[in-house]
Amino acid sequence: MTDTTRRIFIARSLAGGCAAAGLGLATSARAAAHVEETDETAVGLGYHHDTKLIDQAKYPAHTPQQRCADCAFWQATPADAWGGCAMFGRKQVAAGGWCSAFSRKPG
Ligand code: SF4
Repeated sequence: MTDTTRRIFIARSLAGGCAAAGLGLATSARAAAHVEETDETAVGLGYHHDTKLIDQAKYPAHTPQQRCADCAFWQATPADAWGGCAMFGRKQVAAGGWCSAFSRKPG
């Protein structure tokens, strides 16, 4: 490998690494987007970030012990503050949140 070839190889490797790092940051930023309570889907499902704020009159089957982190649709660990949910695509819901699609995790 000549000096010129080596320099081109190193420059391309660095450029590729930077592009990959940038893509990783962009992916992380997208993954961290939180659902807004005013989002159309959130309003439709009666989602709130805090299960204690659910209107019992509107959702009589709801109990304050029901929370996203205990739901079968929760896509994170029990210790995470925010996590994915099958109902909200790429946006994350709060561990202490709730919506009318709540289904307790088996077990
Ligand atoms: S489906 Fe479950 S995890 Fe998703 S928002 Fe509703 S209660 Fe939370």
